[in-house]
Amino acid sequence: MLTTPIEYVKGIGPVRAEVLKSELNIFTCADLLNYFPFRYVDRTKFNKIVELEEEMPFVQLRGVVHALEIVGVKHTKRLVVVFKDNTGFVELVWFKGYNYMAQKLKLGIEYVVFGKPSSFKGRINLAHPDIDVLNEESFKFLNAFQGVYNSTEKLKVRGLNSDGIRRVIKTVIDNLKEEHVYENLSLELLEKHDLCSRFVAYQKIHFPANEIELKRAIYRIKFEELFFIQLKLLKSNKLRNTVSKGFVFSKVGELFNEFFANHLPFQLTNAQKKVLKEIRIDLGKGRQMNRLIQGDVGSGKTMVALMSTLLALDNGFQACLMAPTEILAQQHFQTFSELLKPLGVALEILTGSTKTKNRKIILQNLKSGELKLLIGTHALIEDPVVFNNLGLVVIDEQHRFGVAQRAKLHAKNTTPPHMLIMTATPIPRTLAMTLYGDLDVSVIDELPPGRKPIKTLHFTESHRLRVFGFMKDEIAKGRQIYVVFPLIEESEKLDYQNLQQGYDNLLNEFPPPNYQISIVHGKLSNEQKEMEMKRFIENQTQIMVATTVIEVGVNVPNASVMVIESAERFGLSQLHQLRGRVGRGAEQSYCILSTGVKLSNDSKLRMKTMVDSNDGFYISEVDLKLRGPGDIGGTQQSGVMDLKLANLAQDGEILQMARLAAENILSLDENLSRPEHLVYVNELNKVEANKPNWSKIG
Ligand code: ADP
Ligand code: MG
Repeated sequence: MLTTPIEYVKGIGPVRAEVLKSELNIFTCADLLNYFPFRYVDRTKFNKIVELEEEMPFVQLRGVVHALEIVGVKHTKRLVVVFKDNTGFVELVWFKGYNYMAQKLKLGIEYVVFGKPSSFKGRINLAHPDIDVLNEESFKFLNAFQGVYNSTEKLKVRGLNSDGIRRVIKTVIDNLKEEHVYENLSLELLEKHDLCSRFVAYQKIHFPANEIELKRAIYRIKFEELFFIQLKLLKSNKLRNTVSKGFVFSKVGELFNEFFANHLPFQLTNAQKKVLKEIRIDLGKGRQMNRLIQGDVGSGKTMVALMSTLLALDNGFQACLMAPTEILAQQHFQTFSELLKPLGVALEILTGSTKTKNRKIILQNLKSGELKLLIGTHALIEDPVVFNNLGLVVIDEQHRFGVAQRAKLHAKNTTPPHMLIMTATPIPRTLAMTLYGDLDVSVIDELPPGRKPIKTLHFTESHRLRVFGFMKDEIAKGRQIYVVFPLIEESEKLDYQNLQQGYDNLLNEFPPPNYQISIVHGKLSNEQKEMEMKRFIENQTQIMVATTVIEVGVNVPNASVMVIESAERFGLSQLHQLRGRVGRGAEQSYCILSTGVKLSNDSKLRMKTMVDSNDGFYISEVDLKLRGPGDIGGTQQSGVMDLKLANLAQDGEILQMARLAAENILSLDENLSRPEHLVYVNELNKVEANKPNWSKIG
């Protein structure tokens, strides 16, 4: 039944089937059943005509056609129907298809009318309402929550607007029997979580009689979706623990100990120590490490990365660190070079702009094993880069790397190297559990001591002079300032104009020789960018005008003010990232959000969230709610986000329940070998076919 091609469904036929296939990817009855309404209209209530008002959204009436007449000429021609219930009369009007309607409607028969009231010359009417004959059969169908389905122009031409789609789904549901719908959750689970059967869920998600039925159906389907994701992730986690071999880093050696004892520039925070310990334990286990480190901007992830690479070197392996941008790779290279100088560790940097001659030498030394530590950008994973014995890969700002790129890194040694992935985009728990259910997650939940929380202020453009005055005061105290302009690709030209304009304004306000300004944006050559960055890092310039190229990683502790222009055009996590560029020294730091005067509600909430909170996790929760999970860095490619119904931003509780249920089952029956768990194995095999495996591509 469910695998029946849709052309055989009564009322569809070959022509409509073609459109359903090409427009909605609906091939079988099962596909049709999985095409859920995107919203519902409450048609369980009836209104009285006497109560109708213009402001009412949708109303439902029951009554009879009292009179009907086609009136007007040419383009004002229309059908006017006087509709009557026992409280009064109202006009229904059709401007299109009126001949057909005029023939179809009969006087004296009872109808249900559904539409939006509007007012014409002081009188209420309903234009183009839905109108159905009222009888026992149709009443059941009408007096319910009615699903509204997305349709397309091509479908509508074939009579498959929302109503049309609902009608064909109705045909399928009417023929659906319990035995057609494979129940993929055990009776025990159904009872324990008070879930309706799959059969009922499919019926009721399309045709709920009331809100309670609808909610139960939705809950059941969401639970099922999230349960199987969790079951799969947890199972592959167990598998990785037992199967996926990794190099054993058995010792904490000379380099690590020497560095720790004599060259640490500061005391590690407890959070850094904790994470390092977790990494050390991982590396000694003999299975491949796939660890994600979440740490807010400025929490000191670089030091953790550096000390981890020393562990690799101590155990005779090579290590590499991959950064998303050239500037960031440069900065890591400098940091590492300085810190590792006393240890005499040889390291190199490889990026797109490394000169051919240099590149050749680096590649040679890497292959021979002479070069132990390599820092770079995407250039690191290109095919000609061959390591002698790569043991650890650190990926900074993970969300900028694609899954395929990580898979390439995996192939750089006979046994996959350990992976340490660092992200400053804190991912809400619910999302992390789903996305990275098969990664281990460490959190650096503490900032280095002595940091004062950044003060965030929101100004509209009309207060520009005050902002300039504030900037001058800060510069007089010896501080440096970032001014960031949005650069969003679609409107690139305009954005560059804004950037240039902003830069000119600043030059006017902060003229040389008293002030010096750097400018960095994507149109500059790498050398130019570096020059400008260098001038700022060395405190030769007081203001750095930039686009978001400085978003990640840049570390200038003396910079204490971040001015974000047109802040309403940035997403929350991006704003938080930008703000994280300041507040790195001991001075009080400020973030100034400059926006237009008129703001959308979303923008207002974003500004308020930034002003109120410095907590990256909280901010990412709000971000998730505002934008939905599809937008959070990197999740599009994850393949686990193609949830039909569940929404990670809202369904954290269901997710939690589903995860517990999955944990429970695996704790009783690790391999799902019990007969009653066979349904899960079957279901997982289905899922397996089209989802990537994170433990393999970590
Ligand atoms: P992020 O986690 O954003 O990559 P960084 O590693 O760039 O942060 O660290 C931010 C700043 O904090 C750097 O200047 C770094 O030297 C400093 N830092 C890191 N750890 C500590 C610590 N334990 N105590 C003091 N300063 C630290
Ligand atoms: Mg960093």
